[in-house]
Amino acid sequence: MIKISRLRKNQLRNKFLFIVIIFLIAMACTNNEEAPEGTISKGQDLSIYLTDKGVMMQGFYWDVEPRFEWWNTIADKTKNWSDIGVDKLWLPPVSKGQSGGFSMGYDPSDYFDLGEFNQHGTIKTRFGSKEDLLKLIESAHNNNIDVIADIVMGHNSGGGSEFNSYRNKQTFTLFNPSNGNASGLFNRGFEDFHPNSIHASDEEALFFAEQDLCHLQENVQNWFWKNDNSIAKYYKNTIGFDGWRFDYVKSFSPQFVKSWMDEVGGWTVGEFYDGNADLVRQWVLNSGAKAFDFPNLFQMRDAFQQNNLRILQTGDMLWKSNPDDAVTFVANHDTDREPVIQNNYKLLAYAFILTHPGYPCVFYSDYENTAFKTQLEDLILINRTLATGDLKVLFADADEYIAQRSGTGSNPGMIIYINRSSSEQSREIKTNWISKSLHDYTNNIRTGLTTDSNGTSKLQAPANGYTVWSLQ
Ligand code: ZN
Ligand code: ZN
Repeated sequence: MIKISRLRKNQLRNKFLFIVIIFLIAMACTNNEEAPEGTISKGQDLSIYLTDKGVMMQGFYWDVEPRFEWWNTIADKTKNWSDIGVDKLWLPPVSKGQSGGFSMGYDPSDYFDLGEFNQHGTIKTRFGSKEDLLKLIESAHNNNIDVIADIVMGHNSGGGSEFNSYRNKQTFTLFNPSNGNASGLFNRGFEDFHPNSIHASDEEALFFAEQDLCHLQENVQNWFWKNDNSIAKYYKNTIGFDGWRFDYVKSFSPQFVKSWMDEVGGWTVGEFYDGNADLVRQWVLNSGAKAFDFPNLFQMRDAFQQNNLRILQTGDMLWKSNPDDAVTFVANHDTDREPVIQNNYKLLAYAFILTHPGYPCVFYSDYENTAFKTQLEDLILINRTLATGDLKVLFADADEYIAQRSGTGSNPGMIIYINRSSSEQSREIKTNWISKSLHDYTNNIRTGLTTDSNGTSKLQAPANGYTVWSLQ
């Protein structure tokens, strides 16, 4: 028996070695086709240029699966995310929503039920139990990742029915232990919603108009941020959140985000859903928070869809005026359902945001997409190393966009070349690098280039692709 099995083992090993050899030969042949031997360029180990920059991971997509297991699913990924340069993890709203085990958290009912009370048909939230959440946060912290809570402050859902004297009818505005608020904390009634005795309405109430919270009411302010056991303080001091992402901030005054931040601090970004950069800048000014760069998202969409990359140079975007306030992104849980940037332009858009100013947010479904993963890892590394210093657009036309980051000190910076056309393109560009060898740090073009004594080189970018050139 022993003999046979040893023989079989040897056979298997030989078979394995044979496959490996065939594979290596095949690899060598492919490489030879792409670039004749001797011209494949090798870059530097970029870790020598590491800055303190990181990226945010949006740690969910719409209707994540499997239900009740999400916190555990992503806890296992925090080590990998940390290794590639993720320094913030944005979670979906953690509290129980009206649709219980199906809720993505944007229909908040009980802000203090993080998967521990039996209501709306479930104890766990769609994402898991409170214990699972605490373990996830611990695992993120052990990997030096800050955890960002998604706060839905505009409206509520899932309360009981009561007679609302301001509307002269029944409204679902009653929140107490027997009506969608099992925790018994932040009990609410119609006086806490619009209209009420002190306030008729606030900003936009597009969703759930009858359950639009009034943040001027003392009860609402106390439970959101003022009390010692307010939502803000409980999430920060007890649960361990480090910062905040405020949902749909157009639906209430920016002063309330400011009040929250004044009370508990923490890195904060708001979802001011608008392509008008002036309006987003105004909100940033009034709230003191950072904002998602929706103007940048919509300008990228136009540039790629309309085949006019000049828009990348000329378009008004938050990061151009407020680089430290802008959180740039290509996709999120909403665009997931209704794409803004089409899939075939996504990597080009990531190449843009990961080489330009602003703090980039990477969407879970994009990074965990095997077709994108390696390329996003390369771009994130470029973002943390070479993508530094002043930005200068060197060329832009319908289907090409070339821009340079100057670098700082010994960091040589980089040149990004985005090519939206369906054929490889090249263009003579004057760089800051005199008589140097260049390497494409995205590895999309495998042959190196050189600059002449004027710093000029004919840079290349593949069809519907991009390159990032820097010193070899
Ligand atoms: Zn109000
Ligand atoms: Zn409102």
